Amino acid sequence: MILPIIAYGDPVLRKVATDIDKEYPKLNELISNMWETMYNASGVGLAAPQIGLPIRLFLVDTTPFSDDEDLTKDEQLQLKDFKQVFINAKITEETGDEWAFNEGCLSIPDVREDVNRKGTIQVTYLDENFKQHTKTFDGLLARVIQHEYDHIEGILFTDKLSALKKRMLKGRLTNISKGKIIVDYRMKFPALKKGR
Ligand SMILES: [Zn+2]
Repeated sequence: MILPIIAYGDPVLRKVATDIDKEYPKLNELISNMWETMYNASGVGLAAPQIGLPIRLFLVDTTPFSDDEDLTKDEQLQLKDFKQVFINAKITEETGDEWAFNEGCLSIPDVREDVNRKGTIQVTYLDENFKQHTKTFDGLLARVIQHEYDHIEGILFTDKLSALKKRMLKGRLTNISKGKIIVDYRMKFPALKKGR
């Protein structure tokens, strides 16, 4: 089932999300609905707060990035095979030089800006079977995970922009929260009573 994606301005996107356990109700169904919602919106990642749940769960599938011709063959292969559920994730280390990448967000349609982040991360997380992993990621994979991880910490990519950029974007962000935007997937806008 495709779920409405929560738009910029909703307080649920600002909560530090909480850990879940195996007993979380209908978790498999939730994960499957989140995949469907993400693919329907052509996203490469989706975090639970974006569908209204302040829990530490996000999904990443970087396959759409894998045909980027600027990448090496190895990077393309790495991105092509990467589809992962992250539960109760914790980034334990962020290292390397900061680099800029043009980011977007399903909760902030049509806004894209360069964001600086460190290149390499170490993450501890549970997969959908509650098996624990600790892995190191870099490049675009790290980038997508950092973006989704920020969502479960209540942070949006627009928070990381310069004061000038933020001022320039203010009007557009207000419009998004009011639903004054054309978007080709289902969304829920905080300033409206009902989703559409
Ligand atoms: Zn996002």
